[in-house]
Amino acid sequence: MVVSTVPQTIDRIEKNLEERIGSRRFQLWFNNSARLVVGEQSLCVEVANNFVGGWIENNFSDHLRQAAGAAMGKEPLLTFRVNPALVADEADGGVARDGLHLSGREESPRGAAPVRRAPKRKLRYTLDKFVVGDSNRLAYNAIRSVLKNVISRFNPLFIHGGCGLGKTHLLQGLCNAMSQEHPEVGWHYVSGEEFTNQFIVAVRGGSLDAFRRQYRNVDVLVIDDVHFISDKRATREEFLHTYNAIDAAGKQVIMASDAHPRQIGDFQESLVSRFISGMVVEIDMPDYETRKSIIEMRSADHGCMLPQPVIDVTARRLEGNVREIEGAVLKLLAYSSICDEPVNMQMAEKVACECARPVTVTLQVGKIECCVADYFGVKVTDIRMSKRTRTIALSRGVAMYLARKHTAMSFPEIGRAMGNKNHSTVILACKRIDKTLTSGQEVTWDGESGRNSLQLVDVIAEIEQAMGCND
Ligand code: ADP
Ligand code: MG
Repeated sequence: MVVSTVPQTIDRIEKNLEERIGSRRFQLWFNNSARLVVGEQSLCVEVANNFVGGWIENNFSDHLRQAAGAAMGKEPLLTFRVNPALVADEADGGVARDGLHLSGREESPRGAAPVRRAPKRKLRYTLDKFVVGDSNRLAYNAIRSVLKNVISRFNPLFIHGGCGLGKTHLLQGLCNAMSQEHPEVGWHYVSGEEFTNQFIVAVRGGSLDAFRRQYRNVDVLVIDDVHFISDKRATREEFLHTYNAIDAAGKQVIMASDAHPRQIGDFQESLVSRFISGMVVEIDMPDYETRKSIIEMRSADHGCMLPQPVIDVTARRLEGNVREIEGAVLKLLAYSSICDEPVNMQMAEKVACECARPVTVTLQVGKIECCVADYFGVKVTDIRMSKRTRTIALSRGVAMYLARKHTAMSFPEIGRAMGNKNHSTVILACKRIDKTLTSGQEVTWDGESGRNSLQLVDVIAEIEQAMGCND
């Protein structure tokens, strides 16, 4: 809960901040364990404890300053203060529990028998709003199979694919359906980032036992964006123990990630082979028919039946991920409301022009990272971590440059997607690559067969070929 002497300014800062960092992170870090206090030229972030303060400062300072700058007319001085009143939130769960969507079984205090509880919170997405097409049918059927059997043949089930293709939708849809169809089953949905944060808080707060109990007492463990766990050693090891315990108890595990288990890199080989031993399914970009159905469903959700030619042109022109398609539908409806007339072809053409990107820019960061990693003989996780050997630094720079060139992502978005890097790191990397390209210089790296040197322009051309850009 955010409190301030200037509520409207606070509201604006909050809204802007939520847009910048995404609502999941905003809820996790700013909903309970921090609050903003606006001064004349300053913004004070009151935090539950030093750890929360440090995390917010390291990860969100720029966003906070910019969000506040937009609301206050000038970027304020940012300060942090521990507010004991917020400690109660944390003691009551705070950061550690806020990210959890725990249903079913929960450990009762002092190791008494577990109790069954009604779901705490309904997750956002449901399966009935998921459009099934060739690109996602396999993943959808696998999810249905888990729903039918609870412990399915597909155990673990690993779903991977680019951003905005429906992985989170499927996982959350499964959990919600599980609550309805098997209320006795204790499922636990958590993102890799939340697992990591909760683990850190548990270690620092001396509540590791409670952290472990809550994970090991579930029937179905659902972990979204599991790649987030892979590049942090201690969290990775903790995850291995959690996984072992759940697996040994014969429970179901479902994971989603933006890359195939082998491409995630820094998970122990034994864990990767166990991920692969179940069912690994990829979700692809939606085809034309699926895109049409999604547009129809989304517009109907907003109480509007779009004319068929409008649906056709929007589906034909928007070949990107589903998030972009949803954005285009919203834009169409907004135009129609502003102009106070039904959606027409002119609006559809305009929105398609604004939202559609050339085919090459529909590439996913995950795919770019994989192609770059393959080319230089490094792992995707090396690119995402902060290792600085010559070859890894070069791979990272090239991956960031190609992400900038072939996606519509902003510098901060690229930074976040590539291991939570600061946007200035991305800007610097792109500038360096640009300069090397312009000056026609060679780059040098160490591959499996020894040292290589090539003109950067040729290196980039080969990687782009592998990415399918020149087809
Ligand atoms: P991911 O987790 O793969 O990045 P999400 O599950 O967050 O993607 O999906 C992004 C948006 O697209 C969400 O609003 C989701 O509801 C929507 N979406 C994705 N795939 C589908 C689909 N097949 N049918 C309906 N909506 C979809
Ligand atoms: Mg997701």
